[in-house]
Amino acid sequence: MKASVTKGLGQGFVIEDVDLAAPIGHEVRVEVKASGLCHSDLSVATFLGQDFPIVLGHEVAGVVAEVGPEVTQVKVGDHVVGSLIQYCGSCVACLSGRTWICRRPERTVRGADEAPRLSWRGRPVAQGMGLGGFAQQALIHENQLAIVPDAMPWAPAALLGCGVLTGAGAVLNSAEVRHGDSVVIIGAGGVGMNAVSGARIAGAETIIVVDLEDAKLERAKTFGATHLVNSRTTDPVAEVRRITGRGADHVFDFVGIRAVTAQAMEMLAFGGGLYLIGVGSADAGIEVNSVAALTASQKVQGVYMGSSNLKRDIPLYASLYLQGRFHLDELVSREIALADIDEGYESLKDGKTARVVITDLA
Ligand SMILES: [Zn+2]
Ligand SMILES: [Zn+2]
Repeated sequence: MKASVTKGLGQGFVIEDVDLAAPIGHEVRVEVKASGLCHSDLSVATFLGQDFPIVLGHEVAGVVAEVGPEVTQVKVGDHVVGSLIQYCGSCVACLSGRTWICRRPERTVRGADEAPRLSWRGRPVAQGMGLGGFAQQALIHENQLAIVPDAMPWAPAALLGCGVLTGAGAVLNSAEVRHGDSVVIIGAGGVGMNAVSGARIAGAETIIVVDLEDAKLERAKTFGATHLVNSRTTDPVAEVRRITGRGADHVFDFVGIRAVTAQAMEMLAFGGGLYLIGVGSADAGIEVNSVAALTASQKVQGVYMGSSNLKRDIPLYASLYLQGRFHLDELVSREIALADIDEGYESLKDGKTARVVITDLA
């Protein structure tokens, strides 16, 4: 099958003829229909990665083509969306419903003593996050797959497993935003827009979006933002305090730069919570004044994958999308072919491009 292989740091994405093993155990062979270009895959390909060659791509949607002998959760023909959340289903974290912090995620991939899922010219090829969606086919553990309705279109479906879980989940699961609450979303990129959708679904009264670019802020309005703040021209802390009167109940930092995170903390109301999602620089972080925080009963929480249970949340967001209650089409700026990943990532540098999705896998 055709797969896009990254052979080393900075070596881009090159189409090769890669072999896919037959499914064993809980593995599912998925015929890929759409695969999203996420920034974290570009980071792996350019400076973070250690295992090469590798097939990246962790925002994958497709049709179940074949199942391993122990698979019980999906069947051939099901439309599925993959997620990078890898969970065993039987550790203490999984049994308490917190699958996103599973203690044994390695149970979902093959061991070093087993034949590799992917190989090229007889040599093993690594599989990004247990998914490897930049390919015509992918071999994925059934725990990493959620079934979506057949009516769900492929391009928006691909976004569900990463950016949508992260953004909407931060609001709905991690922060448990309630109707009437005030919410600030810092960073109006694709993930931030999913947080706006989450805040609207939760019934937040005030949804303030902060960004440096007017074009992104305008887009935020169509997703349901009630107030827009351009932090290049306006002091965002003063503006949030002015709009809310008392500070915000929930502030979501999708940027992750020290100065921005410090501002986010300053925006909190008494009893408010700051949620850290973005990692914009290596020294991202925050200093917390204990006296101020305890006096105001404030909290700071790191959020991984929106505290999401993928089997519940992916079908939920798909259903809300099909009902017209969750915006996704506006996020798919461009659809490309499997051979055009390098160029697709290049086009993401333009602030107007929200997300790029591979839908031509021929
Ligand atoms: Zn991602
Ligand atoms: Zn587990």
